[in-house]
Amino acid sequence: MNGINIPEIFGTMVFNDKVMKERLPKEAYDAVRLAKDEGKPLSHDYAKVVASVMKDWAIENGATHFTHWFQPMTGITAEKHDSFVEPFGDGDVIMKFSEKSLVKGESDASSFPSGGLRATFEARGYTAWDPTSYAFVKDGSLYIPTAFCSYSGEALDKKTPLLRSMDAFNKQALRILRLFGNDKAKRVTPTVGAEQEYFLIDKSVYERRLDLVHCGRTLFGARPSKGQELEDHYYGAIKSRVSAFMKELDEELWKLGVYAKTKHNEVAPAQHELAPVFTSTNIASDQNQLTMELMKSVANKHDLVCLLHEKPFASVNGSGKHNNWSISTDLGENLLEPGDTPNENAQFLLFLVAVIKAVDEYQDLLRISVASAGNDHRLGADEAPPAIISIYLGEELDAILNSIESGSAYLAKAKSELKIGVSVLPPIPKDSTDRNRTSPFAFTGNKFEFRMVGSSSNIACPNFIINTIVAEELRQFADQLENAKDFNGELDKLIKKTITEHKRILFSGNNYSKEWEKEAQKRGLLNLKSTVDALPHYTDKKNVELFAKHKILSEQEINSRMEILLENYSNIVHIEALTAIDIARKEITPVVIDYQGFLLDELKLKKEYGKIACGLEEKLLLKLSALSENFSNALDKLVEDVEKYDGTSSNLDKAKYCEKILLADMETLRGYADAMELLIGKDFMSFPTYEDILYSVKY
Ligand code: ADP
Ligand code: MG
Repeated sequence: MNGINIPEIFGTMVFNDKVMKERLPKEAYDAVRLAKDEGKPLSHDYAKVVASVMKDWAIENGATHFTHWFQPMTGITAEKHDSFVEPFGDGDVIMKFSEKSLVKGESDASSFPSGGLRATFEARGYTAWDPTSYAFVKDGSLYIPTAFCSYSGEALDKKTPLLRSMDAFNKQALRILRLFGNDKAKRVTPTVGAEQEYFLIDKSVYERRLDLVHCGRTLFGARPSKGQELEDHYYGAIKSRVSAFMKELDEELWKLGVYAKTKHNEVAPAQHELAPVFTSTNIASDQNQLTMELMKSVANKHDLVCLLHEKPFASVNGSGKHNNWSISTDLGENLLEPGDTPNENAQFLLFLVAVIKAVDEYQDLLRISVASAGNDHRLGADEAPPAIISIYLGEELDAILNSIESGSAYLAKAKSELKIGVSVLPPIPKDSTDRNRTSPFAFTGNKFEFRMVGSSSNIACPNFIINTIVAEELRQFADQLENAKDFNGELDKLIKKTITEHKRILFSGNNYSKEWEKEAQKRGLLNLKSTVDALPHYTDKKNVELFAKHKILSEQEINSRMEILLENYSNIVHIEALTAIDIARKEITPVVIDYQGFLLDELKLKKEYGKIACGLEEKLLLKLSALSENFSNALDKLVEDVEKYDGTSSNLDKAKYCEKILLADMETLRGYADAMELLIGKDFMSFPTYEDILYSVKY
């Protein structure tokens, strides 16, 4: 057998710490480390050295080009490749990569969405090297992770606010650690492990579905006779084609230094998952982008197509991304891990209630952070949390918080009142209760799992928001505690008060149930059902103030983001509507006419012959003609409404129109089409059905 040596291939295509240590002169290496770990700017001289060493390394690894790799607001990564080739003398070339090319790139920002920022600022943009995320070689190019800003410094991408939020978080978390006497930790970093769900289908069926090709999801399709009811796919044996794909994907990811760890089948047929080992939010976010790209390109090599849409198929589960979030110090301590000493536990509780307060006060921002046209089809369905944000802590922590709040004995077993005073806090047991898989924000022992994130989304957004809102609560806590005369007393009061004021966000029941919706409403929790409901809250005063205070985004930057997201939403729905019309007219209509013609011919023949029962044809024809009439009217309505779509109205009005009118029209049209599909002979169908697609990978 052809075994693979993982440690040998891991990170071979990455200009990582090991390579830098080996190849850079010591002073240059130290300077890069300072840039990476403490954000100290790298001097020109050192940058020169790094560029030259990086180029040699990249060429040795097969690179001929380099590219600044960035994450504009389009939702996918962007790259523009330049070769290292530089004319030299008379007809010769040398391979050149200057310090300037490493550190800063010019990019015409005008072709990327700026949400109005362009009108106010210069059209030019630039990309700036992010030394905290390693450069790597892929497909013959050296990729340099970069941030993307306008010339006047406005963030035009997803990475910039994430980096800013990590700094803000570090600053506030360190203040808290110092209060607990920790003066060793130099940096506190939010960490993330993003479990990625996806569908894998055969290329030949994909190519015959215009809706999948244009929109990434099916706009038509009756539910298959076998869906996910038997739950036989989840963790089931992996088919050999899928397994070959997963193996190659793992290898490619390992070479690029991505810590791919777990792979398994998911609940829906053709659905799978990959989970990496966690790392800092910025690197996790870059690596998740890479993972999604590689999933697509590796699938292609196997004649498969990887679908990352949140809801490619109605009637079976959609795909999400479980964003596991925690907090680490540079000394490797997880601050969301209950500790062994009362002191550690008091500190743990403070971080815990900071998250609780943050989630309660910024429910809207968390909802916004996962808002997209695709994710709207998934949230609130029976496979994903509703659009209502709440936290699940588990039985043990619930009991602990209850007893802290009420001053009563903890878990009946303990005799005494639970006081926070650092000297008397009992050990906090690891929760042994079952997971609540319906919770949007669940504590899982030493991290929070944010389960609302969509499978295709860039996790930079939810994470810069989580980092920022928790940083804000830590700031408030630090302000209060730093001035306290009696630290223990003040801490006790603060934790109690926070629990009392924010416990409404805690919920351990079934988040999918109707009762929860009612209960949540009673508690005054937000229920922002759609992207269009959620996005306008981006610019609420409290949110603008939050981002300004921590220097994450200015009001203009937030506004531009909101406009871009709204416009993106409308564009997606508009394209879906046009595609639905195309398919309805050019693929479904002819099939329906054909089949009805066939039935009619049969019926005529039978009638001519006489004496034969014609019930089957007659009943089918009656059903089909009634449905096709409704289908035709629904199509007319969609066409009319698409014509009324006013591309010049405000982004919010456009998005509202798309949600209320176009999506509703498409639903109606689809209802009739799917009902007809169930009646039409298989040989008459012009495109692959759900059955064909979901079971297209057979072995
Ligand atoms: P489960 O599969 O039961 O949800 P795992 O321990 O396998 O739990 O973790 C799932 C994901 O959570 C993995 O991607 C893992 O790397 C990530 N994770 C674990 N610990 C942390 C942490 N401290 N910070 C961020 N993510 C974490
Ligand atoms: Mg998990």
